[in-house]
Amino acid sequence: MTGKEKESHWEDIQRILSRIEGRGYKAYKELTGSYDFGDFVLLIDHVQSDPFAAPSRFRARVLKENGGFPADTYKNRSRTIALRDFLTREFSCLSKKVSGGRRGTGKSGLISIDTPGQEILEKTSMIVNEDYLEARFFVGLPARGRTILTKVAEKMLLEEIPRMVRSSLFYPQIDSRELYAHVETAEDADFIRERLSAQNFVSFVADGSVLPRASGIDSRPLKKGTVVPFQSPSSLKVSFNLPNRGLMSGMTIPSGITLIVGGGYHGKSTLLDAVKLGIYNHVPGDGREFVVTVNNAVMIRAEDGRKIEGVDISPFISNLPYGQDTKSFSSDNASGSTSQAANIIEALEMGAQALLIDEDTSATNFMIRDHRMQKLISKDMEPITPFIDKVRQLHKEHGVSTIAVIGGSGDYFDVADLVVSMNEYIPEECTARAKEIAEKYKTDRKKEGGETFGAFGNRTLLPESIDPRRGDRAVKISSRGLLSIVFGVQDIDLGAVEQLVHVSQTRALGDAIHYATKYMNKKRTLKEVIDLVMADFHDSGLDVLSSEKFGDYASFRTYELAAAINRLRSVKVIQKR
Ligand code: ADP
Ligand code: MG
Repeated sequence: MTGKEKESHWEDIQRILSRIEGRGYKAYKELTGSYDFGDFVLLIDHVQSDPFAAPSRFRARVLKENGGFPADTYKNRSRTIALRDFLTREFSCLSKKVSGGRRGTGKSGLISIDTPGQEILEKTSMIVNEDYLEARFFVGLPARGRTILTKVAEKMLLEEIPRMVRSSLFYPQIDSRELYAHVETAEDADFIRERLSAQNFVSFVADGSVLPRASGIDSRPLKKGTVVPFQSPSSLKVSFNLPNRGLMSGMTIPSGITLIVGGGYHGKSTLLDAVKLGIYNHVPGDGREFVVTVNNAVMIRAEDGRKIEGVDISPFISNLPYGQDTKSFSSDNASGSTSQAANIIEALEMGAQALLIDEDTSATNFMIRDHRMQKLISKDMEPITPFIDKVRQLHKEHGVSTIAVIGGSGDYFDVADLVVSMNEYIPEECTARAKEIAEKYKTDRKKEGGETFGAFGNRTLLPESIDPRRGDRAVKISSRGLLSIVFGVQDIDLGAVEQLVHVSQTRALGDAIHYATKYMNKKRTLKEVIDLVMADFHDSGLDVLSSEKFGDYASFRTYELAAAINRLRSVKVIQKR
């Protein structure tokens, strides 16, 4: 509850509003409390201090028996998360209808909930537990200048919000067909994800999937022009018998080393992008509902300019000029190749089992050093051991698979287990042909970098190097869009963390970095710390991040939390050998 002792009646809202009519904005604070509306309870947790401030935080709570949702809409974790997501979308849709247009100064008249995108994420905007459903939303209490607008407030609080709650949180009012499609789709996708791991697959792309997006800044499906639905090559076709949809066929990518080749503009990156986001479930109609990837797959790219602190990149980089250490490598301004090496090692450190790499976003000299270049620049003058010489060792010694989009270097045929070529957006398996070519046209390049990949580091972070305060002032953590976190006096650039999809993840990540410091000490490795944080989220939800029950957090993986921490420029580490 809110900490308020007793529940008031909805008519008390009316009473308070008429008492504070025409007064200054601060008088709205009197609304803080909880109000019984008969079939639901409205909790006003926090009232904003002026019309321009962050909007007020409200919750609406409906007892399970009143909401009437059948038990099979939340009978397991997949379904519960999908139900929460669905209800958030319903509420969001209504709130957009209601609070269009300005109704006073600043945020006056706003009613909004944290709106999901194409992915079904676990979010704190909607809670479903043993006892109740709870929507957490934001309200701009209305004012003209700083004067309270009682009539508008009354309309919002006593008409609009109750109508929204009654239309979205009560089963008889919603489209049950759509709801079931939502929860069943998520459950089926989770089912596939489980099977993938058990059967040694990395990813599944269902026949008929629509992979291309509307545009580079619009993640809805492409509708314009010719859209070619996905069609799996017969040699890679596998069917799963899904709990809801029944038999579904598609292409599976097995563990090992997979190349995606093909001409430019033939859909290679589009396929890998879909695989990359297959770690998430997608909404029905997205086109990628049944593109499913194991949840320990991490997209890797070059990221020159990033900060690296104490990472053992020696499997890839050694003998830097002037004897710089690469077993505990630090840089305030990493190069393309060193950043890509660090991104891989950091992902491995967290337990990644599959690496996803696109030539478009890779450093060429990290990916390949061909025969001619080996002749011109001898190994003792080249610190980089290219990925091509490490990719097999990674799989053999650490069980780590790679899916790489490589249209530019046939040298990779030598190390691939599977080669898929994209031809006019249709994949074709061409492993045998690629191996034949590799046999016929030897590259003569020498293997570099030794016989083993070796162990990767085990870093311990110093908690005192992670400080979210701004000078002497209070903690300041916020997200600035999807790809940046303000953390105290620093900015964390997440521009290269490609598997983030929602700003609420970024917001949660910022607070999670701070939260993680409570587990940091000189003994625990970063992975151990993050595992403890994730265990708390699993047990108690993302609410552990804040004492004020915020409705705008979304879940993320260990990899993204590690990525955010690793990009904090102040971080200091101890490297354990
Ligand atoms: P590549 O990486 O092979 O150069 P991309 O994956 O970037 O190619 O795709 C090139 C263009 O084709 C993009 O604009 C993409 O949206 C579009 N595209 C990709 N797949 C399909 C498809 N199945 N149907 C229609 N257009 C597609
Ligand atoms: Mg491409």
